[in-house]
Amino acid sequence: MAPVGRIDAGGGPLRRGRHRLLGPLATGLGYYLGAVLGVAASSMSEGIAIFWLPNGILLAALLLAPRRDWPPYLLAAVAAEIAADLPTFTLAQALGFAAVNLFECLLAAWLLQRVARPFTLDRLRHVALFGLVLVLASGLAAVLGASIYSLSIPTTTSFWDFWIIWWLGDAMGVLLVTPLVLGWLQQGPSRELERRHFLEAAALVALTLLLTIWVFSQLATDSFPKRPFLLFPLPLWAAVRFGVRGAASVALLIAAIVITATLNDMGPLLAAAPADTVLLLQEYLAVLAFSSLALAALLQELRATYDKLDRLNHELEVRVEARTRELQQVNQRLEELASVDPLTGASNRRHFLEQARAEISRAKRQGLPLSVIMLDIDFFKSINDRYGHESGDQVLVALAATIHATLRGGDIFARMGGEEFIVMLPGQGLQEAMQMAERLRLLIAQNEVPGCPARITVSAGVAGLEHASEDIVDLLRRADRGLYRAKHQGRNQVCAEQGPSPDALADA
Ligand code: GH3
Ligand code: MG
Ligand code: MG
Repeated sequence: MAPVGRIDAGGGPLRRGRHRLLGPLATGLGYYLGAVLGVAASSMSEGIAIFWLPNGILLAALLLAPRRDWPPYLLAAVAAEIAADLPTFTLAQALGFAAVNLFECLLAAWLLQRVARPFTLDRLRHVALFGLVLVLASGLAAVLGASIYSLSIPTTTSFWDFWIIWWLGDAMGVLLVTPLVLGWLQQGPSRELERRHFLEAAALVALTLLLTIWVFSQLATDSFPKRPFLLFPLPLWAAVRFGVRGAASVALLIAAIVITATLNDMGPLLAAAPADTVLLLQEYLAVLAFSSLALAALLQELRATYDKLDRLNHELEVRVEARTRELQQVNQRLEELASVDPLTGASNRRHFLEQARAEISRAKRQGLPLSVIMLDIDFFKSINDRYGHESGDQVLVALAATIHATLRGGDIFARMGGEEFIVMLPGQGLQEAMQMAERLRLLIAQNEVPGCPARITVSAGVAGLEHASEDIVDLLRRADRGLYRAKHQGRNQVCAEQGPSPDALADA
């Protein structure tokens, strides 16, 4: 009934080349069958159709096909119109009707495609515009159609009676057929229906058939009030569970039965005058079809919005996670930068003081000894002066490496600034620290530093934790005093510095 080629997400029919003619042929055939049906279902003696389905088929075809492919579709429609009309009308009348119908479909397609291309019925706004456009286009076309009737056919029916029947008949035809064709062809190949869904669809169709036939088999003698309103839940159910496709299918099924019954003088929509019956029928079906279509579109739109929100949420979570990871890495790096001396890789002063305080409280708590060695390179200034600052750096790096290699696991090693280093030895008393310092001094004195011919020596001051009241400042001050003495006594030596005796402290 429309371009047979499948429609991809962008709306362009796939394999168009192969089906160039199939689309127009199918449209022409559908148009012809719809027209024959329309003429057969005519209620007015003049032959004006109360439900004109062909325009619904042609409009769907125009909405599905690219504009450059429109001419063969229009030609097919004209041919079908003439073929269907000729038994009843003259060729001139048939051509006139064809022109009016083409005008209506082209106007509607053009207006709808100004809103969206491809035009779809999966948004409430689109369904509302679809309703407005089809009322407008068929209303205008009806003026032309009614004019042809009034001018070319001897009749007692007024122009406005023709107009309203034509108008509502065309609008109803489009409302029933176009969403159906778009629903089935536009949403791509139908997804594999689950067994459960298939059973539900079958139940819905069966119930629709039974209930519609039951309501519209009403006779004057019936005592049970079979109201047309009873059918409203069916297309709504279809809309909720099966979308635009389901809503349009159920609405058309109901329409087929309701029209057949009403035209055979059955059902609850019969009025005193045939023209009133037709209007009642058209209004009833318009409300039924349009409301379910709108509901289906609204639900689909909500679903799409939720899906999009879900997707965005997920993307956001992923991005936040990545950022958090990056931040953690940067933080870690910053922490390293803040605690490590970049030249030697030893801890810096700040980090050392932090660790030293913790170690001292632990030593006090556990009653364990603790000591520090403060080392300072001898005559380092003259090494810089003689061999250059870079060689001086090499010396610092080599010295740090030597000290580092001598330490045990729990020892803490830091560069306190310039060419001054400190080692804290938790668990070691003053004597052991002295031995360690001496060992270091000898090792350093033996070391050769690449790029620096001078012999490097260090002086060291050693101090041990002696009283519970001592803190890191006291300890460093004493080690510094030892270092000062070592320098003063000629450098390249280790001096221990003991604190005042407990008695002296008590006296103080
Ligand atoms: P002393 O035996 O009395 O310790 O004499 P010294 O020359 O080692 O002592 P002083 O404190 O006078 O000189 C220390 C020098 O260390 C001064 C400074 O130029 C140098 N220095 C400090 N930091 C660095 C550094 O990062 N790289 C280099 N190459 N030199 C440094
Ligand atoms: Mg020095
Ligand atoms: Mg110094």
